[in-house]
Amino acid sequence: MAFGSRTNGRLMASPRAADPGELFRNHLQRCGLHRTAQRERVLEVFLDMGGHPTPEELYEEIGSRGGGVGLATVYRTLKLLLEAGVAERRLFGDGLDRYEPRCGKGRHVHLVCEVCGRKTEIPMGNAERLFAKMAREHAFVLRHSETSFYGLCDSCARALARGAGQVARAAEGVRA
Ligand SMILES: [Zn+2]
Ligand SMILES: [Zn+2]
Repeated sequence: MAFGSRTNGRLMASPRAADPGELFRNHLQRCGLHRTAQRERVLEVFLDMGGHPTPEELYEEIGSRGGGVGLATVYRTLKLLLEAGVAERRLFGDGLDRYEPRCGKGRHVHLVCEVCGRKTEIPMGNAERLFAKMAREHAFVLRHSETSFYGLCDSCARALARGAGQVARAAEGVRA
């Protein structure tokens, strides 16, 4: 349970997650799967690279660090990491499946630029309490969440404003 588990009626903002390697190895054991060097490598690079990689991006990153793991293994291992609670899936409206480690960064909201795809992470802060309260009011057991806001990043907003200005000036030029 990652999202605001309650202890003595108090909401814990970010319960300390178990060690991801331990979670993963326990899950492999439950599934009767071996702890292979390739699976360990996928986990290691996934935790280290940061961001919100697609399976292909993770595969490429592993490749740039010496490789030795096939794309199919990356896909399968990410699925296991999801099941183990080590990874969360992120969908940012671009049709791609992305993954993010559940541990470390703490709960955050994503600001996603619809033009350049830049993602800014801001801590959930009080919003986490609000979501937990909403869930309780609906007798809903909240386990995890994915919160994203879509719009324009600062530089894309400026570029768009400049572009609009140029169009307006060009139109005036035609009229003059
Ligand atoms: Zn942008
Ligand atoms: Zn994120």
